[in-house]
Amino acid sequence: MTIEAPVRASTNQRGVGLKEYLRLAGGKTCKFCNTPLRNKIDHYAHSDGWKVMYYTNRLWLSIKCPKCDYDWSLQKLGVPRSTGDWTG
Ligand SMILES: [Zn+2]
Repeated sequence: MTIEAPVRASTNQRGVGLKEYLRLAGGKTCKFCNTPLRNKIDHYAHSDGWKVMYYTNRLWLSIKCPKCDYDWSLQKLGVPRSTGDWTG
């Protein structure tokens, strides 16, 4: 799989931004090692990912555990991939 750099565009300016996704997914604890997750979302272009404000392509969103390094996708943190889909 090729990982493309996310493309910022002037389109899709309404909707759910990265900050909002962090608000929805933040404050969770790693289910494997019980460590509070980082307060930062990692993202890369992925056609099955989330629709994010300011980005043309969908992004895969995840938050990494600072202790065991497991990458928790936002899906697993209770934020469905349809979250931003209401935007045009
Ligand atoms: Zn962990």
